[in-house]
Amino acid sequence: MEKKDIDWGNIGFGYIKTDKRFVSNFKDGKWDEGALIDDDTVTISECACVLQYAQTCFEGLKAYETEDGRTVIFRPDLNASRMADTCKRLEMPVFPEDKWVEAVKKVVKANEAFVPPYGSGATLYLRPYMFGSNAVIGVKPAEEYQFRIFGTPVGPYFKGGAKPIYIRVSDFDRAAPHGTGHIKAGLNYAMSLHAIVDAHDKGFAENMYLDAATRTKVEETGGANFIFITKDGKLVTPKSNSILPSITRRSILYVAEHYLDMEVEEREVEFSEVKDFAECGLCGTAAVISPVGKINDHGTDIEFPTGMDEMGPTLKKLYDTLTGIQMGRIEAPEGWIVEI
Ligand SMILES: *Cc1c(COP(=O)(O)O)cnc(C)c1O
Repeated sequence: MEKKDIDWGNIGFGYIKTDKRFVSNFKDGKWDEGALIDDDTVTISECACVLQYAQTCFEGLKAYETEDGRTVIFRPDLNASRMADTCKRLEMPVFPEDKWVEAVKKVVKANEAFVPPYGSGATLYLRPYMFGSNAVIGVKPAEEYQFRIFGTPVGPYFKGGAKPIYIRVSDFDRAAPHGTGHIKAGLNYAMSLHAIVDAHDKGFAENMYLDAATRTKVEETGGANFIFITKDGKLVTPKSNSILPSITRRSILYVAEHYLDMEVEEREVEFSEVKDFAECGLCGTAAVISPVGKINDHGTDIEFPTGMDEMGPTLKKLYDTLTGIQMGRIEAPEGWIVEI
């Protein structure tokens, strides 16, 4: 496959238009067959439910080339089922999970020239999303929906190695108990924009959100889950009904237990214990793991022993093992790697 002439190492994380996208419409209570189209624009009513009441949700996953030259995607079945859960919570129609995965594959296949070559560090980021498309003025769910998937090549998340980041404890809340924190709804991101702009203005890379009810327990950041390593080498990750079930985090837990023989704990994590951890990282599809070097808690810094120069040794091992599995250098658990 002839690749596009793109400087893969320097494209950053932005939108680059690719050749084909998948579109399916929901009308009269059912989804149509869907098709790959060329048009990258969307035309909808000025009163579409998504524009007035933010009825929209999304997913994110990556296609990439393995060491032996196959084009693959990572655990797309989990993205499909997470989107189904999201749709149910937002009163949106579920796009059937098997067809969902097939549609993702079609988009990758049709844009294979945009799948960055192995070793470039870049990937083809895939964005499946859905929105209520018909006019709605009284507050109620839409009756018509569009489900779309596009791909955009994104550069290596870390240029020249993963540098630890400096984050802060946020005074804004991300998700209420019994709210929508556990689903991938656009609305969760709309309300996080002010908090992240404010964090960046003050020199922090991310916000650490605590639980909204008591502000004593660690939740997550705007777009990534936390993992911690204890001084005796255990992996600890917060358990809460209001954090997004990250597929990367679930995969890391499996890798820790079954590949690295580590003890893992998914439990409530008090903010007061954070200072005692040996390593701290954020996990999500984009970066896989980004190390956290320091956390600012209202003027007081919590510094992890791993410092601000490089990823700690245990997170590094987890990172190398998981990316090794993804890239085909290490044998993957059944069903994790789906070939195009
Ligand atoms: C998407 C997302 C994550 C990461 O999930 P992955 O499946 O690992 O990409 C974490 N937190 C939030 C709030 C998210 O939206």
